[in-house]
Amino acid sequence: MLRTYAEVQNAIASGTTVMSILDDYLARIQENQHLNAFLEVFESSARDQAIKVDEKIKNGNAGRLAGMVIGLKDNLCYEGHKVSAASKILEGFESLYTGTAVQRLIDEDAIIIGRLNCDEFAMGSSNENSAFGPVRNAINTDKVPGGSSGGSATAVAAGLCTAALGSDTGGSIRQPASFTGTVGFKPSYGRISRYGLIAYASSFDQIGPFTNSIEDAALLTEIMAGQDDFDATASTETVDDYTSFDNSGPKKIAVIKECLESEGIDPEIKAAIEQQIENLKQDGHTVEYVSFPYLDYMVPAYYVLTTAEASSNLSRFDGVHYGYRSEVAKGVEETYKKSRSEGFGPEVKRRIMAGTFVLSAGYYDAYYTKGQKVRRVLQDKTEEIFKNFDFVLTPTTPTAAFDLDAVKDPISMYLQDIYTVHANLTGNPAISFPIGTHSNGLPFGIQLMAPHFEEKALFGFAREMENKAVTSA
Ligand code: GLN
Repeated sequence: MLRTYAEVQNAIASGTTVMSILDDYLARIQENQHLNAFLEVFESSARDQAIKVDEKIKNGNAGRLAGMVIGLKDNLCYEGHKVSAASKILEGFESLYTGTAVQRLIDEDAIIIGRLNCDEFAMGSSNENSAFGPVRNAINTDKVPGGSSGGSATAVAAGLCTAALGSDTGGSIRQPASFTGTVGFKPSYGRISRYGLIAYASSFDQIGPFTNSIEDAALLTEIMAGQDDFDATASTETVDDYTSFDNSGPKKIAVIKECLESEGIDPEIKAAIEQQIENLKQDGHTVEYVSFPYLDYMVPAYYVLTTAEASSNLSRFDGVHYGYRSEVAKGVEETYKKSRSEGFGPEVKRRIMAGTFVLSAGYYDAYYTKGQKVRRVLQDKTEEIFKNFDFVLTPTTPTAAFDLDAVKDPISMYLQDIYTVHANLTGNPAISFPIGTHSNGLPFGIQLMAPHFEEKALFGFAREMENKAVTSA
C-alpha cells in the first residue's frame, strides 16, 4: 500500500507504472466498500489520465504530482463529473467546470480517482449527515471518522488514495484528520481559491488537503495556493516554497490554557499534549500558557455567522436551477417549497432556518451583528497573541472518535468543534497531525495555528514535531 507521495515516487523510480498504482488503489477501494468513503469512483477518466501521465514520465516531462492519486470531497467541482454535496437536492447534477484548486493539481499530473462522501453541504462533525449514509472510521468501524470531510479522511487513512481534498469551515479537515490518524491542513483564509467549492459559509470556507505526511500536505498546498481571477477573496500574497521546510532556530509557542482546562477533554489527550509541551521545551523552544478566555463564545458566534451565510448560499438550490425537483409540486412557489423540503436533510434545514432567523429584521442586531462583533474581538485578541508568539498550540479535538449514533443532540455535536472553529473565525492557518494513540486504540492529533500566511513556518515546524513523534514512537 502506497501511503505517501515519496512512496509513490519510489515505486515509479523502480519501474512501476502509474496505471498499476491506480489499479492498486482501485482494488483497495473495492475491498473497503463497507467504509462508505467513496460516493463514486471515476475509473474511466482516472485511467485516461494515467495513460497520459505514464507517457509523460516516459518522455521525461511529467509534472510535480505525477502518480499522486487524489480523491475529492463531494463538494468540489470537476468538469463532466457528478457533484452532490452528499445531498439529494443535487441529484444528477454534473459540474460544468473544474475548480481552481483541483485544476492546479491536474495540471501537475495528479490523478483524480473519485468523489468522497461527506456531511450534507459540509454541515456536521461525524459524517452521519450524508444523504448516502454514514462513513465509517477505518481504524474501528464502530466509530465515526469525524466530519464533515469524513470520506476524505477515511480514504487517506485506509490507503484508498494517496491524498484527498476536503473543505474546512469550522474544523471539517482537522477534526476528521485527528479522528483517523491523518494530517489535515486548513490554509489561511484566501490562501487557496474557493472557485469550484460548493459554498457553505463563504467567509469561513477553505479547501485543504488530507495526507499521510506533512510533506505531502505542504506540497499540495504549495501547488493549490495563490491568486485566482475567479475568486476575489483569493489573496495576491506570494506563495512561499512550503516544501523547503526551512525552520531555523527556537520558536515561541503559546498554549491556550482554557483548552487544556476545558470540561470534557479526555485525560489521555491532555497528558499527550503536555508531553509534547515538555518535548518542545527540551528541544529549546519557549512554551508558555496564555489565557484566551473566549472559548465559550466561539461555537455560538460560529453558528450564528455560518448559518446566516448558509441560509443565503443555499437559496440557490430551488428545484429549478439545479438537481432535484419535487414531482408532486404544482406551480413555482410549491416547486420551491416541496423541492427544498424533500431535497434537503434535517441538519441542513435546521441551519437554513437558524440562519434565516438570525438575519431577520427584528433579530439581526441581536444575533448577526453581535456575532460579527465577537468575531472581531476574537481576531484582535488572536493577533495580540501572535505579536509575541510564533504558533498557538491546542489539542485538535477534546476526545478521540466516538461511536456511530452516540451523539444525538445537535448542540453536543456542535461542541466537537470547540478547538477548531477558532482558526476559521480568525482566518489563521492551522494544521492537525497525529501525536498518539489512545488506550482504546484510536489515534488523535495536535493542532498548531500560525499567523496569517505563515504557512511556510507552520509546515516547517509541524514537520520537525512530526519527525520527533515518529522517532519517539
Ligand atoms: N462541524 C462544523 C459544522 O458542522 C464544521 C463543518 C465544516 O468545517 N465544514 O459546521
